[in-house]
Amino acid sequence: MNEYKKGVLSRTIRFCDKKNRETLVLQHLFVHGRLMHRAGLKIIITPLNWEGRIEICSALDGRVTNQGVERYRDLGSKHLDLVESKHIDEQRMVLKMRTNGSCLDIAMGARTRIFVNNKTAAITSLSADKSGGYVARQFMVTVARGETISIEKLICIYTSWDTGIYECLSEAENTIADDVESFDSLLKSHVIAWELLWRKFDVRLELSNSDLDNSDLEQYTQKIIRLHIFHLLQSSSVHSLDIDVGMPARGWHGEGYRGHIFWDEMIIFPFLNYRTPRITRTLLMYRYRRLHEARLAAKTAGCKGAMYPWQSGSNGREETQQMHLNPESGRWLPDNTYLQRHVNNAIVYNIAQYFQITQDIQFLSFYGGEITLEIARFWASLATYNPKIDRYEILGVIGPDEYHDAYPGAEKPGLNNNAYTNLMVMFVMDQALNLQHLIPEQDWEYLRKKLGIEDRELKIWQKMSRRMKIVFHDDGIISQFEGYEALKEFNWDEYKIKYGNIQRLDRILEKEGDSANNYKLSKQPDVIMLFYLFSAETLRKMFKRLDYSFDKDSIVKNINYYLNRTTNGSSLALVIHSWIEARLEREGSWELFSQALETDMVYDPAGSTREGVHLAAMSGCIDILQRGYAGLEIRSNILILNPLLPKSINRISFHIRYRKHWLDLEITQNHVKVKSLTSKAIPFTIMIKDEIIRLYPGNIAVVDL
Ligand code: BGC
Repeated sequence: MNEYKKGVLSRTIRFCDKKNRETLVLQHLFVHGRLMHRAGLKIIITPLNWEGRIEICSALDGRVTNQGVERYRDLGSKHLDLVESKHIDEQRMVLKMRTNGSCLDIAMGARTRIFVNNKTAAITSLSADKSGGYVARQFMVTVARGETISIEKLICIYTSWDTGIYECLSEAENTIADDVESFDSLLKSHVIAWELLWRKFDVRLELSNSDLDNSDLEQYTQKIIRLHIFHLLQSSSVHSLDIDVGMPARGWHGEGYRGHIFWDEMIIFPFLNYRTPRITRTLLMYRYRRLHEARLAAKTAGCKGAMYPWQSGSNGREETQQMHLNPESGRWLPDNTYLQRHVNNAIVYNIAQYFQITQDIQFLSFYGGEITLEIARFWASLATYNPKIDRYEILGVIGPDEYHDAYPGAEKPGLNNNAYTNLMVMFVMDQALNLQHLIPEQDWEYLRKKLGIEDRELKIWQKMSRRMKIVFHDDGIISQFEGYEALKEFNWDEYKIKYGNIQRLDRILEKEGDSANNYKLSKQPDVIMLFYLFSAETLRKMFKRLDYSFDKDSIVKNINYYLNRTTNGSSLALVIHSWIEARLEREGSWELFSQALETDMVYDPAGSTREGVHLAAMSGCIDILQRGYAGLEIRSNILILNPLLPKSINRISFHIRYRKHWLDLEITQNHVKVKSLTSKAIPFTIMIKDEIIRLYPGNIAVVDL
């Protein structure tokens, strides 16, 4: 088992100093996979060709600042103030800091022990420091040549948000005072925790023979897939259950976007939904807890219902920055991305997906339903009815493509009738209306009464679900927004030659005194998102209900049109494109998948991984394997597997949880095998290719392709 399967970060450093003394340093650290308050660090030092004294400093440092993102460095970066620090004895110390904005208390305790050749050694404790958020102790140890010193530092961490505690500093103090664990025993239970996680979450990939010539590729690909799973589980796990926490776009590792929560959840949740939907539920509760703030935001904007912010943080108010820096031009510019009201649709979509997999009526009746109704209400109040065309329009918003935030030369930001937003609004209206058929009548009546929903409103929602406006170009292409067709075509070749990497065309054009708003180009999928979220059949029905003609050929035409005009300026782009291609052009999809997989793997000093990993891209890659290539889907209460593996893939295998069954799935070029592990679950219907099977616990279904 390699180190990240165990959830351990290991480093080896071998160095030589000016006096030619060679030293080997091994370091292992982990944050415990089951005991959420614990972490451990072990450093093993071996002087290779010298002997003498080594001074060791073990500290808890609360003076850390947020300096991880270069362009934020001039902004406030010191967020912690000292509350208390203490040396308990020679081995133990504690530190309590408080965030200076949100007054969240964070307490840490550490116990440091030093061994020579694995035995307790004669250590001289030199000094104990304690000043301004820093508490430390210096030790000195004498070593002979070839002897090994191990330093074990066991950590505990509590915050004032923790449940089941008295006060975080006293918890840290007690934990560390009573600690009888060694690094190895703590590590052992940590490794078991990860082993159990891998049993549920691992996704295995076997490449085809032709590619196996290069078995390194298979190993490399598998490794990245696991690394992605690892990061997803570091960011939200069973530790998150029942905690008030959302899914940050960049994980908790980096400072990019300052931990904010966007619409990225829509791409992240499918990974969790099929394995631990309880985590998704917790993450959806993050939204429910901020419904009040979303209602206030809607009211302030002159609307009804609830309007969730584009970027959400602690209390759910809008956190999108008002100005942003273009590092290319050095200019600060207004940031209008907050106008991405489509984030509300993503929330409703996520609730619907969660419900489809879990049938969690309680959640829908009490939480999901209320959010959905309030968002439907918001859209109904934002939309304007145009009697001339008998359609509803949504004006002054922006779609997922952030490179277009206004009409060319316009003073005021916002665009009209973004196709993605409008079609998703239709979806929201459907979900809101359908609620009465899904939840118990009494709950429906309760919700209606609680929210004061009138018949008149339901009628408007009905109409909106049939009469949203979608604009088309003259040749049948869905216009990203009204007026897109009139924008100038962009000279891609010229800019590629001039700049090489043109992913951030928004910055390049602004620097040149021009604007991305003037051209037919986009940062990431916008119209194309529709093909990611809905099957061709569903889309055909949606357009039909809106009384627009839209056939299968239109899908390919639209995808090609927008693919050719996308800069892939967001890490989400490659994943979505690969997903789309999975059904159209499998080999092309595999190419894009391979590129998407590398998002956080390539060392690029100018890249943004150092600001945090891209969780949606990571999760999206896993989702391409499970829903894209394996063709996993739930429709009308049937679990469907309709695989289309690119020829480079020989086998994909993974587990999912579906309606109280644990399923082992194996998809190859020739067959699909589904095994329901022994349980007391009631049988369910599965459709593999076109074969319908009733699967009982303990049974296996095999279908040749
Ligand atoms: C993308 C957004 C995304 C955000 C956070 C931006 O670059 O344009 O769609 O939500 O990153 O990942």
